[in-house]
Amino acid sequence: MKTIIEPFRIKSVEPIRMTTREERERLLKEAGYNLFKLHSDDVLIDLLTDSGTSAMSAAQWGAVMTGDESYAGAPSFYRFEAAVRDLMDFKHIIPAHQGRAAEHLLFSLIAKPGLVIPSNTHFDTTRGNIEAAGAEALDLPIAEGKIPSLDHPFKGNMDLAELERLMAERGEDVPCVMMTITNNAGGGQPVSLENIRGAAEIAHAHGKPFFIDGCRFAENAWFIKLRENGQQDRSIKEIVRDTFRVSDGMTMSAKKDAFANIGGWLALNDDSLAEQARTRLIQTEGFPTYGGLAGRDLDAIAQGLTEIVDEDYLRYRVRTNAYIAERLDEMGVPVMKPAGGHAVFVDAREWLSHIPPLEYPGHALACALYEEGGIRGCEIGTVMFGRKPDGSEEPARMDLVRLAMPRRVYTQSHADYIVEVFEELAARKDDIRGLKIVKEPPMMRHFTAEFEPL
Ligand SMILES: *Cc1c(COP(=O)(O)O)cnc(C)c1O
Repeated sequence: MKTIIEPFRIKSVEPIRMTTREERERLLKEAGYNLFKLHSDDVLIDLLTDSGTSAMSAAQWGAVMTGDESYAGAPSFYRFEAAVRDLMDFKHIIPAHQGRAAEHLLFSLIAKPGLVIPSNTHFDTTRGNIEAAGAEALDLPIAEGKIPSLDHPFKGNMDLAELERLMAERGEDVPCVMMTITNNAGGGQPVSLENIRGAAEIAHAHGKPFFIDGCRFAENAWFIKLRENGQQDRSIKEIVRDTFRVSDGMTMSAKKDAFANIGGWLALNDDSLAEQARTRLIQTEGFPTYGGLAGRDLDAIAQGLTEIVDEDYLRYRVRTNAYIAERLDEMGVPVMKPAGGHAVFVDAREWLSHIPPLEYPGHALACALYEEGGIRGCEIGTVMFGRKPDGSEEPARMDLVRLAMPRRVYTQSHADYIVEVFEELAARKDDIRGLKIVKEPPMMRHFTAEFEPL
């Protein structure tokens, strides 16, 4: 069968409030041309993030009702722990309210000034937590990972020669080696099992632990099954187990590949580190059998983990992005290749080449997508990264628009609609104008800055 259908039926729906183009132009103007300031019910297709926006299944909502809210020792915790351990067999599984809380626990214990923590590419919050502890967060992606238009099966891989060099030169300053799967900041690109094993081997050869930021572990396993030699006949669960078997622990956001709206965890094999982490957890998150979550959240995660490794789901998930990316590519819209697991990235600097980087082509495209079709994406470019600490400005490395797909939320006709909106824009793209910033905070300006069209 050629058509890959959504492998679910819909029992409960959220209506989309339809808006007109005139209304959207007014709403965007009132929001100071900042998409973060829109009310989400004024958005038709919300692709701002795939984090916490998943549709939960009937079984997850059922599990919510069985959640036990006891302060200590709730059965919900033991169901959560067993579900995690079924996929990732770590000795200590410590719940936290989000991925960044798990990162904070880990790095507040092992990072300090003078140390350096390498990764294929650190996610922003991971980098933030490492830097907050005074250590250096070092990205070592492979060269192919830095070229948007280049096709490569495992563009999220780490440059192992660079890692080896770092360990040889500064091994004693490296408290651990990290790997982010999939490589989110690098475009949702997968990491091969071979690369994961190689990085773990180098870390272990130098007596250092190897940790995985596993937010999109199931998508990564699906890409391994599709693309890595010898993995085609293996189940997703086997691949997931192999992925984590070589690691000494993980951080996780359950808002990604656990189909939950909130939650996360830190997992460790080291008894002493786990004891310190639990002590800190009690200070900052909660008792170790709930970690800042309600019992019902733990049950939603436990059930979600049994669903995320379903191949029919993963096939539909990854295909939706690939489909949109292929259609855009055919139309001449430059997209990051190949499509990543959770998002489509459009190279706005190249597509809207008449808009100079300091007039924010990525942001201009994001605004145009909203005005034209009510689609909310996210600029990842000069608005987000262009402001320097001294207040000056320079172009970011790239000006991209990320269209992140919530899990199980949108259907094929939504995907076709997204493509159509691009078709409309393509016909008048030379008229899309840049913007200037009229008000901005000293840092993290993309969330609150206000703009005016030029
Ligand atoms: C989302 C994310 C995090 C942080 O998780 P939160 O639950 O948002 O705090 C860390 N790493 C990666 C790769 C992520 O995508």
